[in-house]
Amino acid sequence: MIAPMCLFCRILEGEVPAQVVAQTEASLAFRDIDGKAPTHVLVIPRRHVQNLAELAEYAAELADVVGLAARVAQDEGLDLGYRLVANTGSQAGQTVHHAHLHLLGGREMTWPPG
Ligand code: 5GP
Ligand code: ZN
Repeated sequence: MIAPMCLFCRILEGEVPAQVVAQTEASLAFRDIDGKAPTHVLVIPRRHVQNLAELAEYAAELADVVGLAARVAQDEGLDLGYRLVANTGSQAGQTVHHAHLHLLGGREMTWPPG
């Protein structure tokens, strides 16, 4: 049996619908289906890698993901600040094993995160 494609690869292929807010040649930004803040956008590389650390092997693509997140933050008017989160591994709560940044903003953030 052929392994099913990962969820975010399916979003990239347009097989699973998503509310896309911005994109570049290397990255895609779309709203989280279960938003935890007024702005909760996921920013992912088009390349399938397991996590952000693996994306560090592709420096230009890592920079592109961070740059797109910053652009979306600006477009969303998050002038007072925002948080970028990269859950890495099961103990950190990573559930989708395709690298992604959570862009969270539009409300006061607590520190440290739970
Ligand atoms: P993780 O837990 O791996 O850090 O983040 C995965 C995120 O993907 C979660 O915040 C979850 O709400 C989101 N998510 C899961 N399934 C879907 C989906 O089908 N569409 C969208 N837009 N987000 C999803
Ligand atoms: Zn993938």
